[in-house]
Amino acid sequence: MPRTVVTGGAGFLGSHLCDKLLAEGHSVICMDNLITGNVANIEHLSGNDSFKFIKQDVTEYLYLPGDIDFIFHFASPASPIDYLELPIQTLKVGALGTHKALGLAREKKAIFLLASTSEVYGDPLVHPQQESYWGNVNPVGPRGVYDEAKRFAEAMTMAYHTYHDVDTKIVRIFNTYGPRMRAYDGRVVPAFVNQALRGEPLTVFGDGSQTRSFCYVSDLIAGIYALATSGETGPVNIGNPREMTVVDFARKIIELTESDSEIVHKSLPVDDPKVRQPDITMAREKLGWEPKVPVEEGLMQVIEYFKTHGDGRS
Ligand code: UDP
Repeated sequence: MPRTVVTGGAGFLGSHLCDKLLAEGHSVICMDNLITGNVANIEHLSGNDSFKFIKQDVTEYLYLPGDIDFIFHFASPASPIDYLELPIQTLKVGALGTHKALGLAREKKAIFLLASTSEVYGDPLVHPQQESYWGNVNPVGPRGVYDEAKRFAEAMTMAYHTYHDVDTKIVRIFNTYGPRMRAYDGRVVPAFVNQALRGEPLTVFGDGSQTRSFCYVSDLIAGIYALATSGETGPVNIGNPREMTVVDFARKIIELTESDSEIVHKSLPVDDPKVRQPDITMAREKLGWEPKVPVEEGLMQVIEYFKTHGDGRS
Protein backbone atom coordinates (compact mmCIF):
# COMPACT_ATOMS: atom_id res chain seq x y z
CA MET A 1 0.00 0.00 0.00
CA PRO A 2 1.65 3.30 -1.06
CA ARG A 3 1.91 5.87 1.76
CA THR A 4 1.12 9.34 0.49
CA VAL A 5 1.17 12.90 1.85
CA VAL A 6 -1.22 15.58 0.58
CA THR A 7 -0.41 19.11 1.73
CA GLY A 8 -3.50 21.29 1.62
CA GLY A 9 -5.50 18.07 1.87
CA ALA A 10 -8.48 19.76 3.54
CA GLY A 11 -8.94 22.21 0.68
CA PHE A 12 -11.18 21.95 -2.36
CA LEU A 13 -8.77 20.09 -4.65
CA GLY A 14 -6.73 18.48 -1.86
CA SER A 15 -9.77 16.77 -0.35
CA HIS A 16 -10.90 15.37 -3.72
CA LEU A 17 -7.34 14.14 -4.25
CA CYS A 18 -7.41 12.40 -0.83
CA ASP A 19 -10.63 10.62 -1.90
CA LYS A 20 -9.05 9.49 -5.17
CA LEU A 21 -5.86 8.25 -3.50
CA LEU A 22 -7.82 6.26 -0.92
CA ALA A 23 -9.92 4.75 -3.72
CA GLU A 24 -6.68 3.75 -5.49
CA GLY A 25 -5.47 1.95 -2.34
CA HIS A 26 -3.12 4.56 -0.86
CA SER A 27 -2.71 5.27 2.81
CA VAL A 28 -3.10 9.07 3.05
CA ILE A 29 -1.61 11.62 5.42
CA CYS A 30 -3.44 14.91 4.96
CA MET A 31 -1.68 18.07 6.16
CA ASP A 32 -3.43 21.40 6.36
CA ASN A 33 -3.19 24.50 8.56
CA LEU A 34 -6.88 25.19 7.82
CA ILE A 35 -6.45 28.87 6.90
CA THR A 36 -8.46 28.31 3.74
CA GLY A 37 -9.04 24.54 4.05
CA ASN A 38 -11.96 23.17 6.01
CA VAL A 39 -12.27 19.98 8.07
CA ALA A 40 -15.82 19.61 6.72
CA ASN A 41 -14.19 18.59 3.40
CA ILE A 42 -12.56 15.55 5.03
CA GLU A 43 -15.11 14.78 7.74
CA HIS A 44 -16.38 11.76 5.79
CA LEU A 45 -12.87 10.24 6.01
CA SER A 46 -12.60 10.27 9.81
CA GLY A 47 -12.75 6.68 10.99
CA ASN A 48 -11.02 5.45 7.82
CA ASP A 49 -7.90 3.60 9.07
CA SER A 50 -6.01 4.52 5.89
CA PHE A 51 -6.51 8.26 6.46
CA LYS A 52 -4.76 10.55 8.93
CA PHE A 53 -5.14 14.32 9.33
CA ILE A 54 -2.32 16.43 10.75
CA LYS A 55 -2.88 20.14 11.41
CA GLN A 56 0.40 21.52 10.15
CA ASP A 57 1.74 24.68 8.58
CA VAL A 58 3.91 23.33 5.78
CA THR A 59 6.14 26.40 5.80
CA GLU A 60 7.57 25.00 9.06
CA TYR A 61 9.90 22.03 9.37
CA LEU A 62 8.19 18.79 8.34
CA TYR A 63 8.99 15.53 10.01
CA LEU A 64 7.18 12.25 9.45
CA PRO A 65 8.37 8.85 10.62
CA GLY A 66 8.36 5.89 8.23
CA ASP A 67 8.42 5.55 4.46
CA ILE A 68 6.60 7.94 2.14
CA ASP A 69 6.00 7.09 -1.52
CA PHE A 70 4.29 10.22 -2.87
CA ILE A 71 4.00 13.86 -1.79
CA PHE A 72 1.34 16.01 -3.45
CA HIS A 73 1.99 19.68 -2.61
CA PHE A 74 -1.40 21.37 -2.85
CA ALA A 75 -1.24 23.78 0.09
CA SER A 76 -1.91 27.40 -0.93
CA PRO A 77 -4.60 30.02 -0.87
CA ALA A 78 -5.92 29.75 -4.42
CA SER A 79 -8.74 32.18 -5.07
CA PRO A 80 -8.01 35.83 -5.88
CA ILE A 81 -9.87 36.99 -2.73
CA ASP A 82 -7.89 34.57 -0.54
CA TYR A 83 -4.49 35.39 -1.89
CA LEU A 84 -5.17 39.12 -1.78
CA GLU A 85 -6.17 38.75 1.89
CA LEU A 86 -3.25 36.43 2.64
CA PRO A 87 -0.44 37.72 0.43
CA ILE A 88 2.47 36.88 2.72
CA GLN A 89 1.14 33.40 3.56
CA THR A 90 0.65 32.79 -0.18
CA LEU A 91 4.24 33.72 -0.93
CA LYS A 92 5.50 31.72 2.04
CA VAL A 93 3.67 28.51 1.18
CA GLY A 94 4.78 28.69 -2.47
CA ALA A 95 8.39 29.35 -1.47
CA LEU A 96 9.13 27.98 2.02
CA GLY A 97 6.35 25.36 1.94
CA THR A 98 7.54 24.00 -1.40
CA HIS A 99 11.11 23.89 -0.07
CA LYS A 100 10.05 21.94 3.03
CA ALA A 101 7.85 19.53 1.05
CA LEU A 102 10.68 18.93 -1.44
CA GLY A 103 13.09 18.36 1.45
CA LEU A 104 10.76 15.70 2.80
CA ALA A 105 10.50 14.11 -0.67
CA ARG A 106 14.29 14.00 -0.94
CA GLU A 107 14.69 12.47 2.51
CA LYS A 108 12.02 9.81 1.82
CA LYS A 109 12.90 9.25 -1.87
CA ALA A 110 9.26 9.99 -2.59
CA ILE A 111 7.70 11.09 -5.87
CA PHE A 112 6.85 14.81 -5.55
CA LEU A 113 4.00 16.47 -7.45
CA LEU A 114 3.61 20.26 -7.39
CA ALA A 115 0.18 21.81 -7.91
CA SER A 116 1.08 24.73 -10.16
CA THR A 117 -1.33 26.91 -12.06
CA SER A 118 -2.31 28.52 -15.32
CA GLU A 119 -1.56 31.78 -13.47
CA VAL A 120 2.12 31.19 -14.30
CA TYR A 121 1.11 32.35 -17.80
CA GLY A 122 -0.24 35.61 -16.32
CA ASP A 123 -2.23 37.71 -18.80
CA PRO A 124 -1.13 35.55 -21.73
CA LEU A 125 0.03 36.90 -25.07
CA VAL A 126 -0.11 33.39 -26.58
CA HIS A 127 -3.45 31.65 -26.96
CA PRO A 128 -4.21 28.85 -26.19
CA GLN A 129 -1.42 28.36 -23.67
CA GLN A 130 1.13 25.63 -24.28
CA GLU A 131 3.55 24.47 -21.62
CA SER A 132 6.43 25.99 -23.61
CA TYR A 133 5.03 29.53 -23.14
CA TRP A 134 6.92 31.55 -20.49
CA GLY A 135 4.05 33.80 -19.54
CA ASN A 136 3.29 37.48 -19.02
CA VAL A 137 3.17 38.15 -15.28
CA ASN A 138 3.26 41.46 -13.43
CA PRO A 139 5.43 40.66 -10.41
CA VAL A 140 4.39 43.75 -8.44
CA GLY A 141 0.66 43.64 -9.23
CA PRO A 142 -1.88 42.26 -6.74
CA ARG A 143 -1.92 38.79 -8.37
CA GLY A 144 1.88 38.67 -8.35
CA VAL A 145 1.90 37.15 -4.85
CA TYR A 146 0.25 34.01 -6.19
CA ASP A 147 1.71 33.93 -9.69
CA GLU A 148 5.29 34.50 -8.57
CA ALA A 149 4.97 32.09 -5.62
CA LYS A 150 3.94 29.36 -8.04
CA ARG A 151 6.63 30.31 -10.56
CA PHE A 152 9.22 30.15 -7.77
CA ALA A 153 7.74 26.80 -6.67
CA GLU A 154 8.20 25.45 -10.20
CA ALA A 155 11.82 26.65 -10.27
CA MET A 156 12.49 25.09 -6.86
CA THR A 157 10.90 21.82 -7.96
CA MET A 158 13.05 21.68 -11.10
CA ALA A 159 16.17 22.47 -9.03
CA TYR A 160 15.47 19.51 -6.70
CA HIS A 161 14.84 17.39 -9.76
CA THR A 162 18.09 18.39 -11.44
CA TYR A 163 20.46 18.75 -8.49
CA HIS A 164 19.03 16.33 -5.92
CA ASP A 165 17.61 13.74 -8.32
CA VAL A 166 14.12 13.91 -6.80
CA ASP A 167 11.43 12.35 -9.01
CA THR A 168 9.27 15.44 -9.50
CA LYS A 169 6.18 16.34 -11.50
CA ILE A 170 4.54 19.70 -12.12
CA VAL A 171 0.89 20.08 -13.07
CA ARG A 172 -0.42 23.45 -14.26
CA ILE A 173 -4.03 23.50 -13.14
CA PHE A 174 -6.53 25.58 -15.11
CA ASN A 175 -9.82 26.89 -13.66
CA THR A 176 -11.50 23.99 -11.88
CA TYR A 177 -14.90 23.79 -10.22
CA GLY A 178 -16.94 21.29 -8.26
CA PRO A 179 -18.48 20.48 -4.90
CA ARG A 180 -16.59 21.71 -1.79
CA MET A 181 -15.67 25.10 -3.21
CA ARG A 182 -16.45 27.76 -0.64
CA ALA A 183 -19.57 29.71 -1.58
CA TYR A 184 -17.88 33.07 -1.08
CA ASP A 185 -14.24 32.46 -1.93
CA GLY A 186 -14.67 34.95 -4.77
CA ARG A 187 -14.22 32.51 -7.61
CA VAL A 188 -16.63 32.86 -10.42
CA VAL A 189 -18.40 29.48 -10.28
CA PRO A 190 -19.49 29.53 -6.62
CA ALA A 191 -20.18 33.27 -6.88
CA PHE A 192 -22.51 32.98 -9.89
CA VAL A 193 -24.22 29.78 -8.71
CA ASN A 194 -25.03 31.18 -5.27
CA GLN A 195 -26.12 34.54 -6.68
CA ALA A 196 -28.42 32.74 -9.11
CA LEU A 197 -29.85 30.46 -6.40
CA ARG A 198 -30.60 33.48 -4.21
CA GLY A 199 -32.14 35.42 -7.10
CA GLU A 200 -29.48 38.12 -6.68
CA PRO A 201 -27.77 39.80 -9.64
CA LEU A 202 -24.77 37.97 -11.10
CA THR A 203 -21.72 40.22 -10.78
CA VAL A 204 -19.85 40.09 -14.07
CA PHE A 205 -16.52 41.89 -13.73
CA GLY A 206 -15.74 44.23 -16.64
CA ASP A 207 -17.75 43.72 -19.83
CA GLY A 208 -17.51 39.94 -19.39
CA SER A 209 -15.68 39.40 -22.67
CA GLN A 210 -12.70 37.85 -20.86
CA THR A 211 -12.55 34.08 -21.33
CA ARG A 212 -11.93 31.11 -19.07
CA SER A 213 -12.07 27.35 -19.66
CA PHE A 214 -13.61 25.36 -16.81
CA CYS A 215 -12.70 21.82 -15.82
CA TYR A 216 -14.82 19.62 -13.56
CA VAL A 217 -12.98 18.43 -10.49
CA SER A 218 -13.21 14.66 -11.17
CA ASP A 219 -11.58 15.17 -14.58
CA LEU A 220 -8.82 17.28 -13.08
CA ILE A 221 -8.06 14.77 -10.33
CA ALA A 222 -7.96 11.92 -12.88
CA GLY A 223 -5.39 13.92 -14.89
CA ILE A 224 -3.27 14.62 -11.82
CA TYR A 225 -3.31 10.96 -10.80
CA ALA A 226 -2.30 9.97 -14.34
CA LEU A 227 0.65 12.39 -14.17
CA ALA A 228 1.73 11.20 -10.70
CA THR A 229 1.86 7.58 -11.84
CA SER A 230 3.50 8.33 -15.21
CA GLY A 231 7.15 8.70 -16.13
CA GLU A 232 6.61 12.38 -17.03
CA THR A 233 8.13 15.34 -15.22
CA GLY A 234 6.16 18.10 -16.88
CA PRO A 235 5.07 20.82 -16.53
CA VAL A 236 1.81 19.46 -17.95
CA ASN A 237 -1.36 21.52 -18.41
CA ILE A 238 -4.48 19.87 -17.01
CA GLY A 239 -7.74 21.61 -17.78
CA ASN A 240 -10.75 21.59 -20.05
CA PRO A 241 -10.18 23.43 -23.36
CA ARG A 242 -13.84 24.46 -23.72
CA GLU A 243 -13.48 28.23 -23.61
CA MET A 244 -16.31 30.62 -22.75
CA THR A 245 -16.64 34.32 -22.09
CA VAL A 246 -17.52 35.16 -18.50
CA VAL A 247 -20.79 36.78 -19.56
CA ASP A 248 -21.85 33.67 -21.50
CA PHE A 249 -20.94 31.63 -18.47
CA ALA A 250 -23.21 33.84 -16.33
CA ARG A 251 -26.06 33.31 -18.82
CA LYS A 252 -25.50 29.54 -18.74
CA ILE A 253 -25.72 29.47 -14.94
CA ILE A 254 -28.92 31.55 -14.97
CA GLU A 255 -30.39 29.06 -17.45
CA LEU A 256 -29.32 25.93 -15.54
CA THR A 257 -30.58 27.25 -12.18
CA GLU A 258 -33.80 28.52 -13.83
CA SER A 259 -33.15 31.78 -11.99
CA ASP A 260 -34.72 35.22 -12.48
CA SER A 261 -31.42 36.89 -11.68
CA GLU A 262 -30.11 39.71 -13.83
CA ILE A 263 -26.54 40.42 -14.81
CA VAL A 264 -24.79 43.50 -13.41
CA HIS A 265 -21.31 44.68 -14.27
CA LYS A 266 -18.64 45.55 -11.71
CA SER A 267 -15.14 46.83 -12.25
CA LEU A 268 -12.58 44.40 -13.60
CA PRO A 269 -9.90 43.39 -11.05
CA VAL A 270 -6.36 44.66 -11.77
CA ASP A 271 -4.40 42.38 -14.14
CA ASP A 272 -7.39 40.06 -14.70
CA PRO A 273 -6.25 37.81 -17.59
CA LYS A 274 -8.19 38.60 -20.80
CA VAL A 275 -8.09 35.06 -22.16
CA ARG A 276 -7.26 31.61 -20.86
CA GLN A 277 -7.47 28.21 -22.51
CA PRO A 278 -5.25 25.20 -21.99
CA ASP A 279 -3.53 23.46 -24.86
CA ILE A 280 -3.79 19.86 -23.61
CA THR A 281 -1.91 18.14 -26.43
CA MET A 282 0.80 17.05 -24.02
CA ALA A 283 -1.66 15.53 -21.51
CA ARG A 284 -3.45 13.73 -24.35
CA GLU A 285 -0.28 12.35 -25.88
CA LYS A 286 1.84 11.58 -22.81
CA LEU A 287 -0.84 10.68 -20.26
CA GLY A 288 -3.68 9.47 -22.50
CA TRP A 289 -5.87 11.88 -20.53
CA GLU A 290 -8.61 14.25 -21.58
CA PRO A 291 -11.61 15.71 -19.76
CA LYS A 292 -14.95 13.93 -20.05
CA VAL A 293 -17.52 15.92 -18.07
CA PRO A 294 -19.42 18.53 -20.14
CA VAL A 295 -19.71 21.91 -18.44
CA GLU A 296 -23.52 21.69 -18.19
CA GLU A 297 -23.27 18.36 -16.35
CA GLY A 298 -20.56 19.54 -13.99
CA LEU A 299 -22.43 22.74 -13.22
CA MET A 300 -25.55 20.76 -12.31
CA GLN A 301 -23.46 18.88 -9.72
CA VAL A 302 -22.31 22.17 -8.21
CA ILE A 303 -25.82 23.62 -8.25
CA GLU A 304 -27.10 20.51 -6.41
CA TYR A 305 -24.22 20.77 -3.95
CA PHE A 306 -25.04 24.35 -2.99
CA LYS A 307 -28.77 23.61 -2.91
CA THR A 308 -28.09 20.80 -0.41
CA HIS A 309 -25.32 22.42 1.64
CA GLY A 310 -26.46 26.02 1.48
CA ASP A 311 -24.04 28.91 1.13
CA GLY A 312 -23.31 29.33 4.84
CA ARG A 313 -25.32 32.56 5.01
CA SER A 314 -28.72 32.79 6.66
N1 UDP B 1 -15.49 37.07 -12.16
C1 UDP B 1 -16.67 37.74 -12.35
N2 UDP B 1 -17.54 37.85 -11.29
C2 UDP B 1 -17.30 37.31 -10.07
C3 UDP B 1 -16.09 36.60 -9.89
C4 UDP B 1 -15.19 36.51 -10.96
O1 UDP B 1 -16.96 38.25 -13.44
O2 UDP B 1 -18.13 37.46 -9.17
C5 UDP B 1 -14.56 36.95 -13.30
C6 UDP B 1 -13.10 37.34 -13.01
O3 UDP B 1 -12.90 38.73 -13.19
C7 UDP B 1 -12.36 36.50 -14.03
C8 UDP B 1 -13.23 35.24 -14.17
O4 UDP B 1 -14.51 35.59 -13.66
O5 UDP B 1 -12.32 37.16 -15.28
C9 UDP B 1 -12.70 34.06 -13.37
O6 UDP B 1 -12.46 34.50 -12.07
P1 UDP B 1 -11.97 33.54 -10.91
O7 UDP B 1 -11.73 34.39 -9.70
O8 UDP B 1 -12.92 32.40 -10.75
O9 UDP B 1 -10.61 32.90 -11.41
P2 UDP B 1 -9.31 33.48 -12.18
O10 UDP B 1 -9.32 32.73 -13.44
O11 UDP B 1 -9.44 34.95 -12.42
O12 UDP B 1 -8.21 33.15 -11.27
